[in-house]
Amino acid sequence: MKPIEEITNQTSQEQENISSEKNASLRVNLSSKENRVINSFENATPFDWEDWAWQLRNSIKDKETLSQIVNLTEDEIAGIDKSGQKLTMSIPPYFSSLIDPNDPNCPIRRQCIPLRQELIRSDHELEDPCGEDSHSPVYGLVHRYPDRVLFLVSEMCAMYCRHCTRSRMVAKGKRKLKASSYEAAYEYIRSNKKIRDVLISGGDPLILSDHILEEIIKNIRAIPHVEFIRIGTRMPVTLPQRITAEFVAMLKKYGPIWMSIHFNHPKEITKRVKFACELLADNGIPLGSQTVLLKGINDKPYIMKKLMQELLKIRVRPYYIYQCDPIAGSSHFRTPLSVGINIIDKLRGHTTGYAVPKYVVDLPGGGGKVPIEPNGIIRQEKGCYTIKNFAGQEYDHHDPV
Ligand code: SF4
Repeated sequence: MKPIEEITNQTSQEQENISSEKNASLRVNLSSKENRVINSFENATPFDWEDWAWQLRNSIKDKETLSQIVNLTEDEIAGIDKSGQKLTMSIPPYFSSLIDPNDPNCPIRRQCIPLRQELIRSDHELEDPCGEDSHSPVYGLVHRYPDRVLFLVSEMCAMYCRHCTRSRMVAKGKRKLKASSYEAAYEYIRSNKKIRDVLISGGDPLILSDHILEEIIKNIRAIPHVEFIRIGTRMPVTLPQRITAEFVAMLKKYGPIWMSIHFNHPKEITKRVKFACELLADNGIPLGSQTVLLKGINDKPYIMKKLMQELLKIRVRPYYIYQCDPIAGSSHFRTPLSVGINIIDKLRGHTTGYAVPKYVVDLPGGGGKVPIEPNGIIRQEKGCYTIKNFAGQEYDHHDPV
């Protein structure tokens, strides 16, 4: 893979050639699943498939189009008809190509096609489970922890995850935030000198054009006390074509910028995703993953282990597994805490330490993230701790006398 400066130092004609070569090499490997989906779009070319704007324009938003690709169940049809009004459905053709058309339990499918069950609201479920709105000093900014803020720059995503914590914000899939509405956020960050870390998120920030994103990053980078900029995104997974050489070159100008990518299942790690992550990593963007624990999707230790190991192979460091937040209509996605604890227990010591993320609960009402650990300490008595290792054997550890 060429470092980006080699690309950006070239003429636009040379850049075009590189892009075409890159696209051509991907097209040669266009999977049969991708071919099946592209064939359902009239006049679509392989060049269109590589173009993230084409993918967005042609995102699947209705059951008629989707039913050409997937054999929909009654629960899904009811979900599209009804819960789609609550949280819109939008699936880029690329992501739809990962769906098993005949398996209603396909982990990709469960994340993007609404189900009737989304309409069932259970006890303790909330519209804003993490209490973000009550910690928002200005529109689009969440300030919960002393030295960092969450900057929500977009109310749109490439694909609307059915388990989305911010479904209250992205529900309609329409852009409401204007560039002018960022001003109050910049001013708040400028006037709070304790803020050294800004997480740019949304919605998905990568849905914005390179130009708008650059303006945002430039404004934040210009604030002297901001040391650390992160971008939270799912687009390298749902639409990896978004990670273009031009986008990466722009990010590199304002580095270091870290990226947290939302991955939920090993099936999401395709050759395109690998290519996107390699382009980012080769050009100095440190990558971490965030995963939501989802019933029937990734709630088995062997699936999580596979996901974490595959992430390391594409240079993404597993960072968090989140307990699924109790958003309204999420009971079909949520697991007991014991499931997450057991997964960590089955990872720790059983695979590379880098492949073991933290399991965290974002406390309802705005309490913040708290790591939940399997309990290693069995007994504690007069400075002696009895501790269980990964194999379940007990050892004594003595405090200094
Ligand atoms: S990409 Fe993120 S913000 Fe958008 S729907 Fe998925 S979880 Fe929600």
